[in-house]
Amino acid sequence: MAKKLGILGGGQLGLMILQASENLDVEIHFLDPNPECSVAQFTEHLTVGDFTDYDTVVKFGQTVDVVTIEIEHVNVEALETLEAMGKTVNPSSRVLRTIQDKGLQKTFYQQHDLPTSDFRLVSSPEAITEFPIVQKARTGGYDGKGVQVLKSAADLDKAFPGPSVLEDLVDIELEVGVIVARNAQGEVVVFPPVDMEFDPELNLVKYVLCPSVIDENMNKKCVQIAQDLATKLDLVGILAVEYFITKDGKVLINEAAPRVHNSGHLTIEGTTTSQFEMHVRAVMGLDLPTVEVTEPSVMVNLIGTAQGFPQIINENVLHDMPQSYMHWYEKAEVRPGRKMGHMTVLATTRDEARAKAEVLADEVTVGAREE
Ligand code: ADP
Repeated sequence: MAKKLGILGGGQLGLMILQASENLDVEIHFLDPNPECSVAQFTEHLTVGDFTDYDTVVKFGQTVDVVTIEIEHVNVEALETLEAMGKTVNPSSRVLRTIQDKGLQKTFYQQHDLPTSDFRLVSSPEAITEFPIVQKARTGGYDGKGVQVLKSAADLDKAFPGPSVLEDLVDIELEVGVIVARNAQGEVVVFPPVDMEFDPELNLVKYVLCPSVIDENMNKKCVQIAQDLATKLDLVGILAVEYFITKDGKVLINEAAPRVHNSGHLTIEGTTTSQFEMHVRAVMGLDLPTVEVTEPSVMVNLIGTAQGFPQIINENVLHDMPQSYMHWYEKAEVRPGRKMGHMTVLATTRDEARAKAEVLADEVTVGAREE
């Protein structure tokens, strides 16, 4: 009988995990508070409930063989209880606790000799005396929310209240992502490094490009650190590691997420196995195939520009473009700045793929229509 995998969260990441596991002998169950979440119309196994609520998560976890996540902000105490009951939870509650808190995450890197920018932890903004400094809320941030640069004391009135991480401002040349998968047997597989380019206004990743432009030496460093980090965390599942490559040639870990990640969406078409299939394989204890680039690829996020019932504008541009693929997240409502889907294009060179992606980014958008 197929084993049951329970996922906390039924958003786009859950949907892509579901799509990728069609050929695996695994029955996937979801817990999500929204009855209209991304996976809703594609599964009979959606429990509507809050993954931040202790009792709801414990109850849901007891109905499946393995528990995993597609979002970090879940009830970790409930996962500890499930582990104490003998349930397999991947990634473990310990990994989630470390990663959920940016302060604990940075401290972990420091204590394990993993390269990261210098930082200190403060309990409130009154302790901020040096500028410029990057302030990060310890918990709850995502997509750049919860991160800001304080240029001088004059910026202190916009500082986040409560405990935060203060990081030196890094002189960034390039932001690179590496996805690593590890199973309980300790097998590790690393995906090829990708470059990430951000939209400066939305703070969201705009393009992800594969392969990365970094040289072989840098490439090896990024891969090695990702492997090292996954092993030191004793991670089971996927870890998406984000790096800063500094202007003076250093590799620093910015942050990591113990789940499938936006920086890995292009692995659906751009590499031989996708991060989504790899995640299911890793958490279920299956073997992990090695990963190769199939063809250079570039991913563009499809971001909402209005509020209401979503409507894709100029989708024909994508249909007319060879080797371009749309992944629509099936969200019931579009809002400005919300990730509604993504598009991936392949080509014989990365530059060519990039040029095609730029056309898509300019032309294909998501607006709203009257219902
Ligand atoms: P989030 O978890 O919300 O994605 P990040 O920690 O990745 O937040 O920060 C968002 C962006 O802010 C990064 O991609 C980077 O461009 C910039 N940033 C973060 N930390 C630093 C830093 N120490 N120095 C310079 N820029 C930074």
